[in-house]
This record gives sequence, structure tokens and C-alpha cells, in this order.
Amino acid sequence: MAQIKKVNQGLIVSKALLRKSGIRPRKRLGQNFLEDPAVIEKIIAHAGFDKNDVVIEIGSGLGALTIPILPYIHHLVATEKDLLLITILKERLSLKEKGKMTFISGDVLKLDFKEIYDKFSKKIRIVGNLPYNISSPFLEKLIINRNYIKNAILMFQYEFAQRLTAKPKNKEYGALSVISQYYARISPLIKIKRDAFYPKPKVDSMVLEMDFTKPYLHQAENEVNFRKTVRAAFSCRRKTILNSLERGIVFASREMIAKALTKCLIDPKRRAETLTIDEYIHLSSILMSDKTIP
Ligand code: SAM
Repeated sequence: MAQIKKVNQGLIVSKALLRKSGIRPRKRLGQNFLEDPAVIEKIIAHAGFDKNDVVIEIGSGLGALTIPILPYIHHLVATEKDLLLITILKERLSLKEKGKMTFISGDVLKLDFKEIYDKFSKKIRIVGNLPYNISSPFLEKLIINRNYIKNAILMFQYEFAQRLTAKPKNKEYGALSVISQYYARISPLIKIKRDAFYPKPKVDSMVLEMDFTKPYLHQAENEVNFRKTVRAAFSCRRKTILNSLERGIVFASREMIAKALTKCLIDPKRRAETLTIDEYIHLSSILMSDKTIP
């Protein structure tokens, strides 16, 4: 009950707040503000925050998630590219709330995760209703910084989330699925209808958890090669795995690739979307056992 009360206190009416400040939502910055208190409540419940948690929020906006999260955690680092929204959010915060926060204005893609990790001497939790145009580069940033991150609770466009969680033999299964599922255990949490936002986006969303403390069971010998093999395999989805790899891996001849596939018991006529993560791990180690792919 206490939690529901807090969430309702955090509920904002974005339209009214923006109108009062004389500003319009900026499409370019993916400004679709969360309005539904039931959704905010569910996100917080699924996140299971702890009083010692240090959280980085991606795009704090008008504070729809920020304010309700604050009572449950130790410190929140709010990143936001739109300086006007930071000003509005600061006005909505009590002194006590401000004391638990750091604001970083600017592009989250340039944020130094290690600096925050070092400052608090602990793994960070990430939360955010992501501006959708940065989904792919932000994911890449998370993967690069995975050693500083405990987990990430993120809202993505529904179709993007489906690609992240897709399994082999599905049309959504691609390089993004294989590489993301290699580095983190990904669990779909909540599907969110477009009506939960102002302004209403054209598509629905999905909240996912990416747990970087639980990567894939098996490890690749050389992760650079693993990623390159996966990307090359999916470079021509309609071709056979042999043809895609021949095109995507410049240093290896068709014969070498065919030999490696046979050694891994992979039929060269299969397509990239039928191979499992284990098969990609094995294939990358055979294909370039003694070198890093240029
Ligand atoms: N968290 C708020 C909510 O749920 O209502 C806002 C979410 S809105 C989908 C995305 C927010 O990210 C916007 O406030 C936008 O200004 C901000 N933003 C967009 N691009 C960004 C970037 N590269 N770095 C940091 N913030 C960004």
C-alpha cells in the first residue's frame, strides 16, 4: 500500500507540466512520457530495488520513474539530454529527494560508467524508458561496460524487444539476439500499450531485464571473433551460412569455411537464423583458432 501511495505521488500529468512551462515534447529526443501509474508501479515491483542500490536512469524526462524510484534506493544518477526537462524536474523535487540524486545533462551515450562505478564502489543498476532512436548504440554501450553493471530494466519498442529475446528459427532472431543473449540473461517483464504515454507513440513497448551477472552458460575463446562471426553470418539472411560467411569473412576462403562448418557438424546449406549460440561459439573458435579476424 505504501508503495502504491508513493507511485501516485510521483504521477505527473506531462501535458499540463509541459504547457505550464511553454514547451512541446521533442520527437527527435524520443520524448514520449510515461503517464500510467499502474505501469510505473509494475516496473518498480519487477525491479525489486534495494536501499543500497545505485541507479543510473536514462532520460529522466519529467520524473515519471525518477520520483517513485527514489524512496527505494541509495542514489540515482539521472541522465537527460534536454536541459529544460532537468530544470522542470528539479523544481518538482524536495530537498531530501535532491540529496539522493546527481543530474548529468547531456548524451547518455557519452556517459562514463566506470567513473560512477568507482565513485560508489559497487555495480550499478540501470533503468530507463529509452528514447528509441538510441536503443542499438545504448545496448552496445551496456555490453562494453558490462563489468560495471548489475542489471538493466529497460523499456524498448516492442519489435526491438522481440529481436532481443528471439530464439533460433524465428524471423526476429538475428545478430542482435545472439550477441545480447551471450552477454546477459534477458527476461521479458511487461508489455506496455501505447496509451500509457503522452504523446502516444505509434507502437507498443516492452520492459525487459538484462542481467549482466548471468551471461550465457558457455564462453567463446575469443569474443571479438565470436561477434564478427555472428555479424558475418547474418550479413545476408537469405543466403546459406556458407555463402554469408564467405562474403562476410574476408580472410577465409570458401574451402576453409566449408571445412570449419563440417568440423562443427553444421550443414553448410543451413541459414544463419537456425544456428544456436553454442554453434556460433564453436564455429568461431574453429574458424579462427589462431588469429583475431581482421
Ligand atoms: N523517463 C521519462 C518517462 O518515462 O516519462 C522520459 C522518457 S522519454 C521516452 C526519453 C527521455 O530521454 C526524454 O526525456 C529525452 O529528452 C531523453 N533523451 C533523449 N536522448 C537522450 C540521450 N542521448 N541521452 C540522454 N537522454 C536522452
